[in-house]
Amino acid sequence: MNEKLLVLIINDMVIFPNNEVRIEYDNTYDKAMIDIVEKIDDGLMLIVNPINDDGVDLTSFPKYGTLGRLKLKMSVPNGKTRIVIEGIDRVEISGIEEDGNFFKASYSQVNIPNTDNKDYFNILIKSLERYISKVPYMGNAIMSQLNNVDNLNDLCDLIASFLPINYEEKKKYITTIDPLVRAKDLIEDMNRDLKFVELEQRIESEVEKELDATQKEYFLREKIKQIQKEIGDEGNKDNEVERLNKKLSKLKCNSKVKEKIKRELDRYDSLNSNSPELGMVREYLDWMFNLPWNNYTKDTEDLVKVKSILDSSHYALEEVKDRILEYLAVKQNTNNLRSPILCLVGPPGVGKTSLAISIAKSLNRKVAKISVGGINDEAEIVGHRRTYIGANPGRIIQGIRKAGTTNPVFIIDEIDKMTKDIKGDPASSLLEVLDPEQNNKFSDHYIEEEFDLSKVMFIATANYVEQIPYELRDRLEIINISSYTEYEKLDIAKTHLIPKELEQHGLTSLQVQVEDEAILTLIRNYTKEAGVRELERVIATLFRKIVKKLLLEKDIVFYNIDNSMIEDFLGKKKFVYMENSNEDEVGVVNGMAYTVFGGDILPIEANMFKGKGNLILTGSLGDVMQESCHIALDYIKSNMELFGIDSKIFDKNDIHIHVPEGAVNKDGPSAGITITTTLVSLFTNKKVDKTIAMTGEITLRGKVLGIGGLKEKVIGAHRAGIKTIYIPHENEKDLDDIPNEVKQDINFITVDKYNDVFNSIFGGE
Ligand code: ADP
Repeated sequence: MNEKLLVLIINDMVIFPNNEVRIEYDNTYDKAMIDIVEKIDDGLMLIVNPINDDGVDLTSFPKYGTLGRLKLKMSVPNGKTRIVIEGIDRVEISGIEEDGNFFKASYSQVNIPNTDNKDYFNILIKSLERYISKVPYMGNAIMSQLNNVDNLNDLCDLIASFLPINYEEKKKYITTIDPLVRAKDLIEDMNRDLKFVELEQRIESEVEKELDATQKEYFLREKIKQIQKEIGDEGNKDNEVERLNKKLSKLKCNSKVKEKIKRELDRYDSLNSNSPELGMVREYLDWMFNLPWNNYTKDTEDLVKVKSILDSSHYALEEVKDRILEYLAVKQNTNNLRSPILCLVGPPGVGKTSLAISIAKSLNRKVAKISVGGINDEAEIVGHRRTYIGANPGRIIQGIRKAGTTNPVFIIDEIDKMTKDIKGDPASSLLEVLDPEQNNKFSDHYIEEEFDLSKVMFIATANYVEQIPYELRDRLEIINISSYTEYEKLDIAKTHLIPKELEQHGLTSLQVQVEDEAILTLIRNYTKEAGVRELERVIATLFRKIVKKLLLEKDIVFYNIDNSMIEDFLGKKKFVYMENSNEDEVGVVNGMAYTVFGGDILPIEANMFKGKGNLILTGSLGDVMQESCHIALDYIKSNMELFGIDSKIFDKNDIHIHVPEGAVNKDGPSAGITITTTLVSLFTNKKVDKTIAMTGEITLRGKVLGIGGLKEKVIGAHRAGIKTIYIPHENEKDLDDIPNEVKQDINFITVDKYNDVFNSIFGGE
């Protein structure tokens, strides 16, 4: 008995030993599985075909399968992943268990009898040769491989893999163990085809001789039907219409939808098989049959269970978790409760999407996920009309079909990144989707029939709340998730990421422990991000290397990773933690920025030189920031005496303001007081302490107005070694959100007007 491997379930193709197959897929389930196989099992996996169409569960697991190895994996341009799997051996499967979303099973080699039966070996080769020479749709590529085969078992597998028979018949050849039985079946299958080909040829010559054109067509049609019947081709329209009619009678949907499907089905039936419309109608039917018109999952009612699933999947994020529990609690007390439309807003990697997926899991709902980032066409949301060539339903209906239920958790990513142009305004279409007054009758242009979206729980995600189209923002319950501090990241790593990655890599804490200091090094020197996505990747890389070492260097069975070992595993540090150790200077002051990496300091520089009072701005400043520079300068000019500045400075000099650091988006008004302080420092020739940073908008009259993103900015400044921060008085309330370990190191000074900043920084000298 061998150790357990992951099981790949395939329901349209059979992989035989010594046979290589190419598969393309686009579903995340298979993707996730293949990723694990690739990482931890040396590419090995077990491949099984379900016994019937209903899929596989622990009670109906096939007894036999193929041990296979992943030989190649690549992404192809249509967005799918292509893999090549090599079949190694026919195996007996036992000890099956569910492992997360997947099955794992142990396996053993199958004892194959009668492999050296020479008589059947020769008969089979002869039958094959005859088959290749007579059957026009069988190629002869198999011939070049016959030389590699010297026993009946391998020969049967080779022929079974090449023979043009359907999937159900192929399945029989993998689950039948005795090669003698398989050889007999193969001979029988080949003979049946041969007889059919002979019959076909006879009809053809008869037809040629005796019949006029119309009769000939009739016969040929009959022949096609015969052929389709013989090879079990489901494409036969008559059979298909019959099958679909049966399916329709069982379909769970309202009568209006049923009537519509019936009409389309009749139309399909009446269309000539050469009609260009045929494919379009067939595709429409496919959509209509596969939408979950009336298929629900039942929500978990046990609040304690929901809470424990959410807590075990994500650290902190209490506000969202509470909101979900409140929803469930109220739902239990009322009958018909609308789902909330949550919008999780925060920088990348802070857990927005994964938390939404956990919410689905905790509620026992399916997940649908789409991204609306970059879309500018409302047809992407509500579909194209069917008259349009290449028409498709919109992404909402596509998501619902994939989820397979009417009440999934539906994640709409990047809701702040839609654009609006001549093709329409996707935001207003999305509004219809989200509007509880209308969405029980959502109408996709392609589907044409109303679909009830009122049971769906929508969760949108966004990076910046200001960029969510206003009309949408109004409908959403915004929940902010902000950057994590180093210490929060440390906790997340210890409680979630490390246990998760250990498991993914087949490791236990008895084999690997990572010291806190080492985790902090990963956080500080190998990642630069607001969330923990990169950190998760770095931990995965570390564990991958450890798995390899454990296998190669068998004498070491335990690794305690301390700080000094990190470089050996991961190479040189990528980000060196910069203590703000530069000298204080005249005309340089630290501002604070909020970027996708979280917060950061943003030093602003100013210089002056002989000129005529011009203001030069560099550093790719946005419009609003450029305005702030003008406001700062004009405010100083009108208060020269107060600041002790000689007015001649402005007559004789040009002034240059520059904001270095290319990667930061430099717009918004919040650098106002920093620009002002930089200029005052320049004009008064007084240095500003490098451990000071500030943020706040300034008005022409010197009032200091509030700003956004304070938490991120402060966390970033703390990381850069800042000790004193000036903030607008309006933002004092936001200090409550800042973690204590950051707050205790920083002296916050709140200001209402610029004069307060001036007095505090320059006043004492
Ligand atoms: P986002 O959608 O915000 O960009 P993701 O949901 O993709 O971020 O999260 C990236 C990774 O970080 C996921 O693997 C997730 O499990 C992990 N993660 C993020 N926040 C947390 C948290 N609070 N607790 C545990 N894991 C987290």
